[in-house]
Amino acid sequence: MFIIKEIYKPTSIEDAYNMLISQKNNTILGGTLFLRMGNKRINKGIDLSSLNLDYVKEYDEYIEIGAMTTLRELEINDLILKNFKSISESVKDIIGVQFRNIATIGASVFSKYGFSDVIVSLLSYDTYVKLFDGGIIKLEEFLKRKYKKDLLTQIYIKKDNTKSKYISMRNENSDYPILNVSVSKQGEQIKICIGARPKRAMIAKSASEFLSCNPKTIENIIKASQIASKELEFGSNIRASREYRIEVAKVLVKRAILEVEKC
Ligand SMILES: Cc1cc2nc3c(=O)[nH]c(=O)nc-3n(C[C@H](O)[C@H](O)[C@H](O)COP(=O)(O)OP(=O)(O)OC[C@H]3O[C@@H](n4cnc5c(N)ncnc54)[C@H](O)[C@@H]3O)c2cc1C
Repeated sequence: MFIIKEIYKPTSIEDAYNMLISQKNNTILGGTLFLRMGNKRINKGIDLSSLNLDYVKEYDEYIEIGAMTTLRELEINDLILKNFKSISESVKDIIGVQFRNIATIGASVFSKYGFSDVIVSLLSYDTYVKLFDGGIIKLEEFLKRKYKKDLLTQIYIKKDNTKSKYISMRNENSDYPILNVSVSKQGEQIKICIGARPKRAMIAKSASEFLSCNPKTIENIIKASQIASKELEFGSNIRASREYRIEVAKVLVKRAILEVEKC
């Protein structure tokens, strides 16, 4: 169990960031579900709950999500369901409703968990993260960056009519996924994203390009799923072997493409 010496309630985002970097063991608190699984000794636990970061707002060109918005809110929010339904679908299998009522999107994205269902789904859209120090960057770039202490405050998703489909495979309900896939389509452009490999989600660029430039016939869809299973690195852990993940990837990518083609 983790230990927090003191809870700090910042009065602004700047105050929260300054407290975060002022001492090594100062830590941002989201819903603390992941933190409590470890045994970290936290000096100041920085509680963001009074900074009004719990919201989903619509603008002409994008949707803005505050870092303290819960996964449950993303699952049931009308703006998300209307514009980015696969995000809602991607969180449904994470443990249970009570859990999702506490887990926050800021922590889920900032932590870059390899198994993350919501990251693979966000990646299939044109998504950006806002970091207090790092500024606004594309999610894809953020996922590639080395860890640096920062505070994620907002997530932006462009409303560009992208259709996306999310699928995952789990050994048991509520277990971590052994593989998760999101495929999106904007016009003729296809984006294939695969996570829980077990490394963090990545875009299968060659497979996406191949299918974007060729007719979406069943032969080409199968070929794209094979390219994706070869171009990305897969590994083994207690949930599944590398070889199994490669075979599952081919099936899930093919299914997700067929589903997104129907949208
Ligand atoms: C038992 C268990 C099973 C899970 N299963 C799944 C699953 O199947 N699929 C899935 O996708 N996810 C799963 N998760 C992850 C879960 O969905 C959340 O992503 C995770 O719990 C983090 O959310 P939290 O709000 O509780 O974060 P916390 O535990 O509060 O924080 C996690 C980390 O993020 C940092 N942090 C928090 N907020 C911010 C911020 N705004 N900016 C910068 N850093 C921040 C904290 O300092 C900490 O280091 C699981 C988690 C647990 C504990």
